[in-house]
Amino acid sequence: MGKSEKLVEIAARLRAHYGPSGRRPGGDLLDILIGTILSHNTSDLNRDRAYAELRRRFPRWEEVLTAPVEEVEEAIRGAGLHRQRARRIKQVLSRLSEERGELSLGFLRALPDGEAERWLLSLPGVGKKTAYIVLLFGLGRHFFPVDTHIARVTRRLGLVGEREEPHAALAPHVPRGKELELHLHLIRLGREVCRPRHPRCQACPLPDLCRYVISKLDPALRPLLRQGTPPPLLVQYEGGDTEPAQVDRAGLLALAADPQVRYLEPAHKLSPKEGR
Ligand code: SF4
Repeated sequence: MGKSEKLVEIAARLRAHYGPSGRRPGGDLLDILIGTILSHNTSDLNRDRAYAELRRRFPRWEEVLTAPVEEVEEAIRGAGLHRQRARRIKQVLSRLSEERGELSLGFLRALPDGEAERWLLSLPGVGKKTAYIVLLFGLGRHFFPVDTHIARVTRRLGLVGEREEPHAALAPHVPRGKELELHLHLIRLGREVCRPRHPRCQACPLPDLCRYVISKLDPALRPLLRQGTPPPLLVQYEGGDTEPAQVDRAGLLALAADPQVRYLEPAHKLSPKEGR
């Protein structure tokens, strides 16, 4: 299955698993940009609190622009990295004020994709993820932002190579029109199931599409990723130990997810004596 085909299948399975996201593009572009600047390396809760406090103290962006940077820092302290973020936010607002004469990103609506992307990427501290969030969530353009969860999940799925830049590796293959929902669903999968240290492959709707899992299974076991009961297994651990195991399908996926497990194969490959 090629990458594009695989992403179509993943989008369909995640929709069946989680339901339609119901999210539609829209909202004020500058609000989205500044909310995203506040979201880097912090939780949604901290971002939301910092953003709410910023807007409570400075209801208009013009007030943030003219406020002393220390007051902006204080307002967003809850998001962490408040000094750097406060400086960035004020730099973005200054740039808009000087270049456009108003604190609005509304002009992006009239720009073609490439120009809008280049303009956003030229802002201090704005990388592809942030720029693409504005373009996708605010304008409904066909961009696919990749956060840390999506990067991890798509690498495990085999969609992004270890040395590839995820935005470049994924962009040509994301099904058109599915960007927003797929983005949200992959983040949810990454947070709840495909967690950094201990993925819960037993609860994942994608194990038969996942390189992380497939690479650990003997070809004879791979059909069991969709359904069926595994035969007695031989588990090879990192470090060289091997052990027999008798598990159901969920147990097979749990073993495959275990970072200590290197390979799983049917126990019939054991010598007749060991297999008894
Ligand atoms: S099967 Fe496991 S490793 Fe693969 S995407 Fe699902 S949770 Fe992540």
